[in-house]
Amino acid sequence: MSSAVHIHPSVDDGIPQAAPDFAGGTLTCLCTTDPVTVEIKGQVAHNHVCGCTKCWKPAGSLFSQVAVVSRENLQVTANGDKLQPVDTTAAIVRHACRDCGVHMVGRIENTAHPFFGLDFVHTERSNQRGWAAPTFAAFVSSIIESGARPENMGAVRARLTEIGLPPYDCLSPPLMDAISTHVAKAKRIL
Ligand SMILES: [Zn+2]
Ligand SMILES: [Zn+2]
Repeated sequence: MSSAVHIHPSVDDGIPQAAPDFAGGTLTCLCTTDPVTVEIKGQVAHNHVCGCTKCWKPAGSLFSQVAVVSRENLQVTANGDKLQPVDTTAAIVRHACRDCGVHMVGRIENTAHPFFGLDFVHTERSNQRGWAAPTFAAFVSSIIESGARPENMGAVRARLTEIGLPPYDCLSPPLMDAISTHVAKAKRIL
C-alpha cells in the first residue's frame, strides 16, 4: 500500500498489529555512541499519529507517532544525563537527547492535568514488534504550521482515512471527552 502522501514511516506501508500480552521494550535515541535508552514495562495506550508542532517527528515526516504509558512503567536506563527538557512551560515537558534531538520521554508535571501520571513516548524508537497500533490522527490541521501546503490537506485527510487513522484537528472524541470529564469533575459539575 503506497501513496504519494507520506504520513509517517511506521504507517506508510501498513500498520503493524499489537502482540497479545506484549511485555514492553526498550526505546533508543538516534545516537550511535552512548545512546539514551528508556525501558517500558508492558503495553502503551492511545497510540496515534500527531500533527502538532511540539511532538518529535522523524526527519521528513509530516506527523509524529506518539503513545502514552504509566510513568511508573517507564525508566531511563542509560545516558539519562543527555536528556534535556525542550520547553518547561509546555503541558507535556518533552525530554530530548541533547545530541540527536529525539524526544525520549514527555512528562506531565502538573498534578491537575487530565493526563497526569502518563508519559508520552515514541514506540518507533524500539526494535521490539507488537506495540499497540496507532488508531487515529490528532492535530491534523497543525501540520500546516510545520510547512505542509494547505491545498494538500484534503489529500492528507483522505490518506489518513484510507489507512485507518481517522483525522481529527484536536485529540480523538474519547480523549476529548476524558479531558472535559476531568474538568467537569474538578469544577464539581459532574
Ligand atoms: Zn541521542
Ligand atoms: Zn503532538
